[in-house]
Amino acid sequence: MLKYNLDALNLLATPVWVVSPDTETLLFSNTQAQKLAAGRSLNAMRSGRFSAVAQKSLSMYLPCLQNQEDVVEIWSICPFGEESTISCRAVLCKLETVGEVLIFEGISGSTTAAALKASRSSIYRSRKQGFYARFFYTTSAPMLLIDPARDGLIVDANLAALRFYGYDHKKMCQKHTWEINTMGRNVLPVMSEIANLPGGHKPLNFIHRLADGSTRHVQTYSGPVEIYGKRLMLCIVHDINEQKRLEQELEYAAHRDTLTGLLNRRQFYHLAEYVLPTVIDFCVMLVDADHFKHINDHFGHQCGDEVLVELAHTLEANSHSGDYVFRWGGEEFLLLLPDTRLDAALDEAEAIRMAIANIAMPGLPGVTVSIGVAHHLPNESLDTLFRRVDEALYRAKNNGRNRVQAA
Ligand code: GH3
Ligand code: MG
Ligand code: MG
Repeated sequence: MLKYNLDALNLLATPVWVVSPDTETLLFSNTQAQKLAAGRSLNAMRSGRFSAVAQKSLSMYLPCLQNQEDVVEIWSICPFGEESTISCRAVLCKLETVGEVLIFEGISGSTTAAALKASRSSIYRSRKQGFYARFFYTTSAPMLLIDPARDGLIVDANLAALRFYGYDHKKMCQKHTWEINTMGRNVLPVMSEIANLPGGHKPLNFIHRLADGSTRHVQTYSGPVEIYGKRLMLCIVHDINEQKRLEQELEYAAHRDTLTGLLNRRQFYHLAEYVLPTVIDFCVMLVDADHFKHINDHFGHQCGDEVLVELAHTLEANSHSGDYVFRWGGEEFLLLLPDTRLDAALDEAEAIRMAIANIAMPGLPGVTVSIGVAHHLPNESLDTLFRRVDEALYRAKNNGRNRVQAA
């Protein structure tokens, strides 16, 4: 059905969002989804006050979904001017015209009640106390037992959890889940959403605070259990701090130039695709070091590298907030100046040129730069814009270097 007409999804009573996993853009939302989103963007719903997700980047779900694993996210929506939560299950689907898409289907509400009823048979009964005790206390994964009816009070914690959070059992059991979750009380609506998820435990990422005040990224598997005749939430905590740190490091490396730490060229094209269409007016500035080959030849490549790092610092220190500074290649840099007119860009380029000419670092040779500046014309392609800024830079070089020229 999808293949032929997404509009048919408007007939459904459940909200449905169709999303591209690569560009993270919303391709379609049915009538019910539009009502619930009330104008909120996909990003706003996924990262709102009450949101909980297992992966920031949607494309990271693809392997799980290909393995038929269950992926559920909790989104913050604002249907009638009041913020609330909705659980959405992701399904992978191939559309003829678009390729692979994620379909998020809202599963909160009436649909969950029936599914929950069906899953009741598998939840713990009080007669399994002995087993519960052994299972709970001997497992090496931190586990918390939470009572949603008592404001999210932690009613039990296993040894691994006490070790992880750094509290003794008595102190741990005086804490509420919102005291250890950095979302604070906003985690309560999320928890009640989790409590109603069909099929129980789902991985979701949070940041938890330890007794010493430090924070850790955790992935929790929470779901309803019945223990001592009470309906509680069992929360299994998995420390993913190291994984998050590596992810952040990788993300940084993917976006940055290794020598200077500036944004790399690939990142420019990413911005050009996703940010520039929202910008009314922008300029680009192409900065090229003068006679850089001489520096390498006379002082060595290592010294040349140090000059490039210093150039990068000076560009960042003298660019305006909101500008993007890229290492374009070799000894060339590109500045992207959103919402900037040509005269302002030229002033900025002149200030940058002077700041660079005045660099005086002990042990490093002086360096100057030539700069081409171009203002993006309405409907101009990036190719044409770059041809113009290249020509301006070429004129700056031909006119004697250490100067700024407008396209
Ligand atoms: P012009 O004023 O015409 O730009 O002269 P130039 O010497 O700067 O230009 P050219 O394009 O002839 O040479 C650029 C030099 O920059 C050559 C290359 O070895 C050097 N270079 C490029 N990347 C790096 C780098 O990462 N480190 C160092 N040390 N040198 C680099
Ligand atoms: Mg050069
Ligand atoms: Mg060059």
